[in-house]
Amino acid sequence: MRVLTALAIGLALAVGMARPLGAHTKHRAAPADAPKIHRVEKVAEGVYCIFGQGGNIGLIVTAKHAVLIDDQFERLVPGLLEAVKTVTDKPIKYLVNTHGHPDHVGGNVVLEKQVTAIIAHTNVRRRMVAEQAKLDPAKRGGLPELALGAEDSKERARLNIHLDDTEIHLLHMGPGHTDGDVIVGIPSVLAMHMGDLFFLGMLPYIDVEGGGSFDGLASQIASVAAWLPDAARIIPGHGPICGKKELVRYRDFLQAVQAHVKANPGKDAAALAGSFDGAAWPEWKPTPAFVTWESLFSAAMGKGPGRVVRP
Ligand SMILES: [Zn+2]
Repeated sequence: MRVLTALAIGLALAVGMARPLGAHTKHRAAPADAPKIHRVEKVAEGVYCIFGQGGNIGLIVTAKHAVLIDDQFERLVPGLLEAVKTVTDKPIKYLVNTHGHPDHVGGNVVLEKQVTAIIAHTNVRRRMVAEQAKLDPAKRGGLPELALGAEDSKERARLNIHLDDTEIHLLHMGPGHTDGDVIVGIPSVLAMHMGDLFFLGMLPYIDVEGGGSFDGLASQIASVAAWLPDAARIIPGHGPICGKKELVRYRDFLQAVQAHVKANPGKDAAALAGSFDGAAWPEWKPTPAFVTWESLFSAAMGKGPGRVVRP
């Protein structure tokens, strides 16, 4: 999978600063009464998706290690680790955050005790630092140690991880769902975790106030759809495992929303939502308490917050 041609940024991983290896194998046992909410599904050889509450989690198993992509919520980490153990006993070496929303990074604060490093875009770390400044110092933690890319989210960034015999690509393509999204690709098995750049089943959330951009998202999806091999398997940030067919439909959907905005200058988000043929896109349904057609069109016009604001 060709992930980036224009710019390649080489970053050396500071593996020499790894925590003691012994810490890797000490999984916390789930309490006996912990609800079993996680479900594991195989995506490709050595790649799994773990569904639970919040963003989908990716699990990559290499010859001697495992890599987690996102971690949902702190309270769910014991159950998550149990789900991981149904696939592998190998130590989780890296935790990658696709972006900084709480339903993707909430488990960081626990998992940092056992992984060698948490890896994310620079803006994920920057925003988490700002958020944690408001917290009691005892509740802070779980910040990414290895940050890729620049604060200027328009700068593309790439990091290649070479773990055992597996190559893992992290790619930041610009502002999209937030200003710190990374796509995680495993080219040897044509698998990819797209984070919240890809919602399937529900209307996408563009966190305009968090540096996201509807047009940026649409152009990233068009770019990925152009180079993604037909056989690729995709873990979306939310929704079922899918493939290129669904991604191409998503590209067309985002472009239809853009075209509707362009064809109706002067209309507000409510009017745009009312006149859009949403029924033609059944794969993307509004969620009344989160993203409605109106909040989506608001984001498409570059206005925040891109979701319903609860009183
Ligand atoms: Zn998100």
